[in-house]
Amino acid sequence: MTAAEPTTESEIAEEESAVETARRQLERAAAHLDVDEGIVERLRHPTSVYRVTIPLERDDGTREMFTGYRAHHDSVRGPYKGGLRYHPAVNEEECVGLSMWMTWKCAVMDLPFGGAKGGVVVDPKDLSSDEKERLTRRFAEELRPVIGPKTDIPAPDMGTDPKTMAWFMDAYSMQEGETEPGVVTGKPPVVGGSYGREKAPGRSVGIITEQAIDYYDWDITDTTVAVQGFGSVGANAARYLDDLGASIVAVSDIDGAIYDPDGFDTNDVEDHDETPGMVSGYADAQSLSNDELLELDVDVLIPAAIGNVLTGENARRVQADMIVEGANGPTTSTAGQIFEERDIPVIPDILANAGGVTVSYFEWLQDINRRSWRLERVHEELQTEMLRAWEGVRDEYDARDITWRDAAYIVALERIAEAHEARGLWP
Ligand code: GLU
Repeated sequence: MTAAEPTTESEIAEEESAVETARRQLERAAAHLDVDEGIVERLRHPTSVYRVTIPLERDDGTREMFTGYRAHHDSVRGPYKGGLRYHPAVNEEECVGLSMWMTWKCAVMDLPFGGAKGGVVVDPKDLSSDEKERLTRRFAEELRPVIGPKTDIPAPDMGTDPKTMAWFMDAYSMQEGETEPGVVTGKPPVVGGSYGREKAPGRSVGIITEQAIDYYDWDITDTTVAVQGFGSVGANAARYLDDLGASIVAVSDIDGAIYDPDGFDTNDVEDHDETPGMVSGYADAQSLSNDELLELDVDVLIPAAIGNVLTGENARRVQADMIVEGANGPTTSTAGQIFEERDIPVIPDILANAGGVTVSYFEWLQDINRRSWRLERVHEELQTEMLRAWEGVRDEYDARDITWRDAAYIVALERIAEAHEARGLWP
């Protein structure tokens, strides 16, 4: 057996659910803090999970039923907040796990929100635009009793976009009898969306990567980066880092990766949303598989596609010197332990991609005040909030012998636990 191979059965057989990963991470953070065990136990569970059936009239006139979920994890710091995902693998456990991550993400950023997540079990590629609109409007109607601008504010996630949010907002508003832009974020700016929201998750990955490179005293102009997933998060992170002088040597989409040791001009490669299939079809580069991209010898690896891509199976073969999580949950617990043993820093999702929900918060403020911010203001305030969060996490990291993920969870859990203590339990 070589060092590159998984060492135990459990490393191979690990496939854990998002909720299991989220619980393990909570327990690790709690072990470092003097937090009431009852509060930790409470945070292991969602407040509620809603499951709805969505009847959809297909374009051919037939009816089909779809299942949708909305998980509410915790709202001690403010309204529930988190995305809606349209994906065939959506299930209740995944929504609960992702809603827990939203609670930590909002707390690490010190936003006055709790955590939620939802979605529909559907492959959006199988729907026409009209079908997607009907599905979204009916989903909004089914969720109407449990969402609202002061209670639970959805946003885009995998498979949903600003257009989806515009339909969702319209359906909700028509039923309420007044335009309620604050019921969702990530809308097009023309109906109360924020400038800069779409690019914000990728931008924050770029900002945090820049800080981490600086922390380790690397020179960004000598840094090589591989990005898995060239959609909204990956492409914007890659372009941000490319502008700072980093060399983006590999990018990928669902069909495969492209590699150029001299680095790409990231504006030359159209992202997945601009032209699907453009990345893997790009002519002037060596092609690789997505798995090979993850194992390239680069300075920074940014998994920005889907969850659970760095596992016990491949973590020992990863050659990157640092990992910055663009996607939610790309690293399994087993992979995280292997990276810890191997001294490979992993900058966690709840910090790195938190620019999305941070600009969602800005959008919500703009909606409440009925006043839109200029793009420059969004960029400035995002930069300020990301640096503030980075410094908080970095101080915990420097103060204790822990991983970056533990440091971020400790910052988040301290805030959430304090809020639970302050509010108490009632009734
Ligand atoms: N879906 C995004 C996330 O995972 C954004 C959530 C939001 O803006 O509410 O962070």
